[in-house]
Amino acid sequence: MEFRGRPLESVKVKKVIRLSKSCLGESEKQAVLGVLESEYLGMGKEVQYFEEELTKFFGRPALCVANGTAALHLSLQAAGVGLGDEILVQSLTYVASFQAISATGAKPVSCDINSNTFCFDWRDAESRLTSKTKAIMPVHYSGGVGDLSEIYAFAKKYRLRVIEDAAHAFGSEHLGRRIGSFGDIACFSFDGIKNITAGEGGAVLTSDANLIQKMQDGRLLGVKKDTEQRASNQRSWDFDVENQGYRFHMSNINAGIGIEQLKRIESFKEKRQFIAKRYIKRLTNINEIELLNFNYSEIIPHIFVIKVENRNGLRDYLLKLGIECGLHYKPNHMLKMYTDPLIALPITENIYNKVISLPCHVDLKLSEQNYVISKIEEFYNV
Ligand SMILES: *Cc1c(COP(=O)(O)O)cnc(C)c1O
Repeated sequence: MEFRGRPLESVKVKKVIRLSKSCLGESEKQAVLGVLESEYLGMGKEVQYFEEELTKFFGRPALCVANGTAALHLSLQAAGVGLGDEILVQSLTYVASFQAISATGAKPVSCDINSNTFCFDWRDAESRLTSKTKAIMPVHYSGGVGDLSEIYAFAKKYRLRVIEDAAHAFGSEHLGRRIGSFGDIACFSFDGIKNITAGEGGAVLTSDANLIQKMQDGRLLGVKKDTEQRASNQRSWDFDVENQGYRFHMSNINAGIGIEQLKRIESFKEKRQFIAKRYIKRLTNINEIELLNFNYSEIIPHIFVIKVENRNGLRDYLLKLGIECGLHYKPNHMLKMYTDPLIALPITENIYNKVISLPCHVDLKLSEQNYVISKIEEFYNV
């Protein structure tokens, strides 16, 4: 097969064991073709249908946007976060969480993590409360949610809004309930490598109808009630705008992919959990390796992270063998934009250069995973 005169093989990523990847079938391709043939590529019926399917999946209203960062940004703004406010957020997260906060004019206040789960440590956050603190943003690191019930109790005590960065946690559960189906506000990402993808995309889940209304307008440049028009492939011509808005809506092309991916969530879940459990079984006996404490029958691992001695040595070793690894993440309080000389985060600072993420995606073959594991064993002489 060819693509733009190049053999298809050369267009694809070269032969390595990939850290993560999209897993796409014929149905996603047909969905995109269908949208292209409709010649209505913007936000329209497909997006509305994807929202309806997500609403059924979670049992409460879902709102689709352009990406996960936009979901966080829009949620914060709709919750009234702005200039002068402070948001407590763990430093160990993708910079998207921090950028979404600073985009509203608010200040992200770096917090430490729980050493067993790398999720939000509300006790540390409590020590950073000020009169300006308006909300917290726990990040569901690698798909786990840590002490989510305690985190909500903490937020309730101090009357803080909770914007869950659930980008890693689509399909994960906590005490038998799906993440996103309960709580204040949960934001998901459907970027190319997340648990389900829409190519690019994001969603906000909340029971707050007022918030949904604000975000419906906010994602379409603040144009009031434009969402309703677009559901029938129309748009508003005579409209009013009251608030700052953004071009944050989702396109029909992306929704088409997302709808098909959502149908496959159960099989994606099984495969990702299977991969994590196999890693644990084989790596648990290596003394130099520490595993995170998650229940892999409850959560869907988005990334599989281990804490090791000689992280950089292991990383170079695996990379040379064609095994991709990830570093999740360089802490945000170490980035120039968010640096704070007064802040000390002992756990985050102790672990960040010891963590490494191993290949974990739905298309990972058993033989590939065996190869990864055997090379790690070789590195540590077991
Ligand atoms: C992917 C991701 C986001 C943002 O999602 P995008 O769709 O890429 O904008 C936010 N937070 C975390 C932790 C992520 O991994």
